[in-house]
Amino acid sequence: MHFDTIAAISTPMGEGAIAIVRLSGDEAVQIADRIFRSPSGKRLNEEQSHTIHYGHLIDPSTEETVEEVMVSLMKAPKTFTREDVVEVNCHGGIVAVTRVLQLVLKQGARLAEPGEFTKRAFLNGRIDLSQAEAVMDLIRAKTDRAMNVALNQMEGKLSRLIGGLRQALIETLAQVEVNIDYPEYDDVEEMTIPLMIEKSMWVRNEIDKLLKTSSQGKILREGLSTVIIGRPNVGKSSLLNSIIQENKAIVTDIAGTTRDIIEEYVNVRGVPLRLVDTAGIRETEDIVERIGVEKSRKVLKEADLILLVLNSSEELSIEDERLFEVVSGMDTIFVINKTDLPQKIDMQKVMEHAGTGKVVTTSLVKDEGVDELEEAIAGLFFEGNLESGDFTYVSNARHIALLHNARATIEDALAAAEAGVPVDMIQIDVTRTWEILGEIIGDTVQDGLLNELFSQFCLGK
Ligand code: GDP
Ligand code: ZN
Repeated sequence: MHFDTIAAISTPMGEGAIAIVRLSGDEAVQIADRIFRSPSGKRLNEEQSHTIHYGHLIDPSTEETVEEVMVSLMKAPKTFTREDVVEVNCHGGIVAVTRVLQLVLKQGARLAEPGEFTKRAFLNGRIDLSQAEAVMDLIRAKTDRAMNVALNQMEGKLSRLIGGLRQALIETLAQVEVNIDYPEYDDVEEMTIPLMIEKSMWVRNEIDKLLKTSSQGKILREGLSTVIIGRPNVGKSSLLNSIIQENKAIVTDIAGTTRDIIEEYVNVRGVPLRLVDTAGIRETEDIVERIGVEKSRKVLKEADLILLVLNSSEELSIEDERLFEVVSGMDTIFVINKTDLPQKIDMQKVMEHAGTGKVVTTSLVKDEGVDELEEAIAGLFFEGNLESGDFTYVSNARHIALLHNARATIEDALAAAEAGVPVDMIQIDVTRTWEILGEIIGDTVQDGLLNELFSQFCLGK
C-alpha cells in the first residue's frame, strides 16, 4: 500500500522538556534530510535504520537555524506504522515544537489526522483492530492495572483468544462439509449435529468467560464510580480527604493524552476510583432528606460503589436506618468511624444490615483503618481469580457489543441443532458467529467504521 507522508506532534502540548514531532511515510526520511544539518555533515538518507542523530534544523528557504534537535531514524518495515518513521526530538515549548512541525509541513508532509499513525499500522498489517483500539485505551488508561489490560490486548491476547474461537468454528464447518461430501455415511445429521453442539457450547462458554470480565475492564478504564454517604458530621469529608491524600491522584499525562476530567480520580491499590458527583455532591448527607428513599436509590444506583459512613460514638439513628434501606442490594462498604471515642453503636445491628457487605472500622482523626478500607475496596473489585495478572479484560464497548451478538448467534445455532433443524440452516448461524467474531479483530469491518474508530484517537498517535 502507498500513503503520503504524515506528521504530527506526538507529545502533549506544552508539557515536558522534550517534544517529539513524528513523521511517517515514504518521504519521511527525505523531508527530514532536507532540513537537518549535522555538525559532521552526515546526511540522514545515508544513515542506517534505527539510529539517532544530533544536529540542527534549518529552514532551507532562508538557511536560518530553527532548532537544536535529536533525530531518530527508523526505516520500514520495523516501525510502528511499518513505514519509514522519523522522530524529531526538540525542546518542549509550544513555540519550538510548532516551528518544527510547520517546517516539515512546508517540506511536503501532511498534518496527520487523529489516530492516523495507528490507522496506518493497522492498514499496513502491523496490528489488528483490537490492538489498535488497545493503543487508544493505553492512552486513556488510568492506572497501572488498566495499562496492563491495554498492554495485554495490544500484544494480541484478545486477538489470539478470538482467533482460537474462530478457528474452532471454521474447523467445525469444514468437518460438516466433509460429512456432507461423503455419502457413504448413511446419516449425515447423526455424524454432524453432536459435533456442532459440542463446539458451539464450547464457543458460547468461552464468550461468556470473556463477557464476565467486561465490567471489570470497563471500570479499569473509566474508574469505579464511588459515592460517600452518611449523616452530617460522621466523617465523610475526612474520609474523602484521607483517600485523596493517601493515594496520589492518577497520572494521566501519558504521551498524547487529551484531558477532559471532571471527576476526581484516585488510584486505590490499582483500582481507579472516580469520586463522582452523582447527586450533585461527592459526599451526600441529606440526599434522603431531600429527595426521599426511592429517588435516592435511583440516583445512587448509578454508582459502582457506595461508602456508607456511620458514627460509632452515637447510637444508630432513624437516618442511619433509612440509609441502610437506600443502599440495600448495592455494592456498599460500611465505614464505622470515630472508633477512638466511646462506642455507642450497636454493631450487631450494623452487621445484620450489612449482610454480605464489608464492614470496616476507622478512626480518621487517628488515621486508623484506612488501609483496611482500601483492602476492602480492592477485594470487592478483584474477587478471587480476577486479580490474576494475565487475565484478558474486555473493556471496549464495541467488543462487548460484538461478543453479545456472537453469543446470541451461537445460541441460535445451538437451539437449532437441538431442535433437529437441517444442518445447512445451522451452518448459517455458525458462519455468522465466525463473521461477528472477525469484526472484533477487524477482519470484516467496513471503511466507515474504521474512520470512525481511528478518529477517536488523539492527534499524534
Ligand atoms: P461530614 O460532615 O460527614 O463530612 O464529617 P467531617 O469529615 O466534616 O467530620 C465531622 C467532624 O468529625 C470533624 O470535626 C472531624 O474532625 C471529626 N471526625 C472525623 N473523623 C473522626 C474520627 O475518627 N474520630 C473523631 N473523634 N472525630 C472525627
Ligand atoms: Zn462534609
